[in-house]
Amino acid sequence: MSERFFVETPIRGDRATLTGPEAHHLIHVMRARQGDAVVLFDGSGWEFSAAVTDLGRGSVDLHVVARREVDRELSREIVLAVALPKGQRQKYLVEKAVELGVIRLVPLRTKRAVAQPDRTALERLRRTVIEASKQCGRNRLMEIAPPQDWPDFIEATRNESCRLLAHLAPGESPEANSQSPGDKVILAVGPEGGWTDEEAALAVAAGWRTVSLGRRVLRVETAALVLVTWMTKN
Ligand code: SAH
Repeated sequence: MSERFFVETPIRGDRATLTGPEAHHLIHVMRARQGDAVVLFDGSGWEFSAAVTDLGRGSVDLHVVARREVDRELSREIVLAVALPKGQRQKYLVEKAVELGVIRLVPLRTKRAVAQPDRTALERLRRTVIEASKQCGRNRLMEIAPPQDWPDFIEATRNESCRLLAHLAPGESPEANSQSPGDKVILAVGPEGGWTDEEAALAVAAGWRTVSLGRRVLRVETAALVLVTWMTKN
């Protein structure tokens, strides 16, 4: 796959312009020249072959030569709600969620969690989403939703048929679940401090199934990725 670049404005005609970090990457890291061929994506599901026409100081103009719809999405929608850890582990989780095909990540506010990312932090995470999509070939961006309180999220997803809560208390393991999860699943992983009994009970009362991921205590990001992986397979 040739080098991929993300364009913020949807590509309509045969011209596109890269700005910001994408232009920087192409000009200074790739040391692009006029005529160089690259692949562009704009988050719409399409992929574009383009050639560099003009290199500015902080922007690059390109001529779009061809377009094709390239689907690298999962056949099932996976929504991952998670009380995000901090720092590098948060970034790691977001990157891997993109690679594995999660469609939406919802940062959860729970009783025992550290504060969820504010606006600026969410913007930074969006950059992580773009970087990961460039690398893994996804042409749709994983959405990062605004942080939500756990009870509100339970309410908002009340009508979804498959909702799984990763919980350390004894529960079914995802593989033990014989019935197919269907074409959309909602997954929730608690914070480093764990769910409170009340939080878990609230979910169960609303129809969530608890799932176990084994006898060891996994870190938030490990639990999230294991659960997502299960759902990409069956
Ligand atoms: N001390 C906490 C540990 C939380 S681990 C507690 O007792 O709950 C962080 C989150 O990862 C948990 O809330 C749960 O959602 C998930 N998790 C970690 N290990 C798990 C396991 N073995 N099975 C299911 N979920 C797990």
